[in-house]
Amino acid sequence: MNPPQEALRIVVIGGVAGGASAAARARRCNAHAEITILEKGPVVSFANCGLPYHIGGEIEHREKLLVATPELFWDRFRVQVRTGHEVKHIDRDAKSVSGVFTRDGHSVAFEIPYDRLILATGSEPICPPFCESPADNVFQLWTLDDMDRILADMQGQPCKRATVIGAGFVGLEIVEQLKQRNIDTTLLERLPQVLAPLDVEMAKLIELELIQSGVHVRLNTEVKSLVSTDKRTTAVKLADGESLPTDLVIVCVGVRPRTSLAKSAGIELGSTGGVTINEYCQTSGPSIYAVGDIVEYHHGTLERAIRVPLAGPANRSGRVAGAHAACGHSQPLRSVQGTAIVRVFGLSVGVTGLNSRMCREAGKPFRTAIIQAPHHASYFPGAKNLTLKLIYEPGSGKLLGAQAAGSAGVDKRLDVAATVLHFGGTIHDLAGLDLAYAPPFGSAKDPIHMAAFVAQNDLAMLPILAEYDAELEGLQIVDVRNANEIATLPLAGAVHIPVDQLSDRWQELDPKQPTVTVCHSGKRAHVAACLLQGKGFNAVANLNGGMSIRRLK
Ligand code: FAD
Repeated sequence: MNPPQEALRIVVIGGVAGGASAAARARRCNAHAEITILEKGPVVSFANCGLPYHIGGEIEHREKLLVATPELFWDRFRVQVRTGHEVKHIDRDAKSVSGVFTRDGHSVAFEIPYDRLILATGSEPICPPFCESPADNVFQLWTLDDMDRILADMQGQPCKRATVIGAGFVGLEIVEQLKQRNIDTTLLERLPQVLAPLDVEMAKLIELELIQSGVHVRLNTEVKSLVSTDKRTTAVKLADGESLPTDLVIVCVGVRPRTSLAKSAGIELGSTGGVTINEYCQTSGPSIYAVGDIVEYHHGTLERAIRVPLAGPANRSGRVAGAHAACGHSQPLRSVQGTAIVRVFGLSVGVTGLNSRMCREAGKPFRTAIIQAPHHASYFPGAKNLTLKLIYEPGSGKLLGAQAAGSAGVDKRLDVAATVLHFGGTIHDLAGLDLAYAPPFGSAKDPIHMAAFVAQNDLAMLPILAEYDAELEGLQIVDVRNANEIATLPLAGAVHIPVDQLSDRWQELDPKQPTVTVCHSGKRAHVAACLLQGKGFNAVANLNGGMSIRRLK
């Protein structure tokens, strides 16, 4: 196909993840288009995801965060970047945008016509009432400027104690980086767990890692106000009256889409509050596209619209919109699964698809399988255990979601699960995947396979899994761990028969009683449960994830 020769005027509002991708792609698809990025901030295409890591010093040089400059956009793409240009109004009839250009304190009005308009205005951090008129040492972290001000404050004033409010992805990253600077850090979270997209027991693994790394973690903790004198906050006052002294506060309680421009132009918003788009990122406004954090995407597993304020979907939607705006066709935007990952000190944790709460809210029946397995062959030096949880439909075994935590190999398992989810696959597909294996990389039976095998056993009742936090009272509990393990982590009410003695001693048990088998991770308990089921025990279950997960209850 010949490249289009149309000299369209393409205007992009917002020049970071989605907007910069859209502009660059538009140029690659149309050599003649006149492409302009209008960005209200002082820079374009900066790495917001890298901001926390410069605060901690892990990304040493600030300029590394500037992925592309206006000069590069012009030299390489002949895309005009106009920083300091805030668009205030879209005139759909006249097909133009207008706003204010500000430099050195002076403002000038501007108006620019468009043939195609791409909205990429992103999201903005939510500002709770207690930080509406913040002191000089209270921050949010969303822009380079925010990052610079945090660093300047830490350099200008002694910062021994910091408080981070909100234990989402950004909050956790900042906590890690503040600790890296030897700052005594407290993390406050209103919910009973950190990182809400994870199931509670998986989130508990992060909480333990935080505590072990010296972070003061306060869950179920509501902030009431900030105590300030001379424009500096000295303490965070909690709803229960307690005051926590602090030298620095960083508020990370979530984001909301910046949709006011789209809304005032009469562009349709969906039930989630994001801009409604079709598969080519076209909005309800003719010739107007929207990408990134302001839109609602189609969630492939949930089968409904959802907002996912993450960089991956922003970049991908930018690419689709850029191509379509430039030449009238592109591949359609694929659905999202909400795949996300974070590093918290020595632990990497991630999620894709639905968690248990989302399944419940959507009325989707589900079952779960949790395993522990080394990230590569256990006999090869450096093997590290990872925890993998699969969520799947009873009956069909359709994969609904996955979560993983560990110090190595988490991203790989998560991405494999995300891929299978994307294609609507089942746990049986996961069990049969032909994955790369040699001892330094994985196992002949990869953790992904192991988790899928456990799920398959569950669905085939070979035997079923009991929920990790199930009420065990009234059941015959058969603990097949060795004596040392039991001494370290006892389980009340259990009969202790080590797995290797069970073939000789199973007669000590009552075959008529509903029975649950237990070990450290569920692996030996599975062998025990199969044996008992084979001997005619009529209701046997294996405790999901074993004591390694039950201890997180
Ligand atoms: P943005 O990248 O926010 O860009 C929007 C731009 O539009 C802004 O520069 C803004 O100034 C401009 N703008 C807004 N209104 C106007 C207007 N009226 N006129 C002109 N310009 C305007 N995501 C991940 O997937 N992984 C991560 O690890 C990760 N870490 C993050 C860490 C931090 C600290 C932050 C802040 C974000 C992180 N994200 C991460 C989220 C990710 O950065 C965003 O999802 C992504 O940048 C959204 O892209 P966007 O183009 O929609 O919006």
